[in-house]
Amino acid sequence: MIDTHMHADARSGEDFEQMYLAGIDCAITCSYYPYKIPQDIVLLNHLNRILELDTKRASEQGLDLKVALGIHPTNSNVNPEKIFESLYEWIETEQIVAIGEIGLEDLTDNEVSIFKQQLDIADETNSKVIIHTPRKNKSEVLKVILDIIPEHISEKQAVIDHINPKVIGDVIDCDCMLGLTVQPQKMDKFEAISILDEYGFDKFLLNSDISNKPSDPLSVPKTVRELTRQGYGKGEIEKVSHKNAQKFFNL
Ligand SMILES: [Zn+2]
Repeated sequence: MIDTHMHADARSGEDFEQMYLAGIDCAITCSYYPYKIPQDIVLLNHLNRILELDTKRASEQGLDLKVALGIHPTNSNVNPEKIFESLYEWIETEQIVAIGEIGLEDLTDNEVSIFKQQLDIADETNSKVIIHTPRKNKSEVLKVILDIIPEHISEKQAVIDHINPKVIGDVIDCDCMLGLTVQPQKMDKFEAISILDEYGFDKFLLNSDISNKPSDPLSVPKTVRELTRQGYGKGEIEKVSHKNAQKFFNL
């Protein structure tokens, strides 16, 4: 299995071990700094830590940790230039599999500007992007995101994440991949399965988004096992357990 969105910097080696033992071979960890950023260097340190330290901590437990880096919308109060310089380097040296997570949270001018610039970098470097949608005002923010994406990048290069039953109807017709985050307080495995049941398995990626907030490191295996228990076809299950992610991120 592949967990397509997590925050390894906020989690323990014990979590990585549990995930690996439950059948997760590979996970993608995304950038998100949950504290104040007093100086720009703090965010750059966060990104380098993910790349250099967290990948090593995960691999010690058997977990192959891939990396997506970028400026999370809630971290948009930085001068982005230094980060963008590094982004180009990480893409060039193939140290990251996507730019992410990026997106919008409160729709501030700063957020919108940094989001658009990162989409342009992805377009220029032919990179994939992982796009965050917020817990509050999800539907409103999602509409803005859906307007912005095609002005900057092919929808085929983007995954829009944290999609739930309330907003699925707004995004199902776009060409983006869609992320289903199975997480306490966000969406349970049965809601995720109801979406797959209605819309098919081709467009979706599963993830836990484990972070410093209430999280379940095993939410992907639990959802996959529930699909098996309910008798869904092996070929369909494999799409959301790993095949869609392998294909989209070239893993
Ligand atoms: Zn996240």
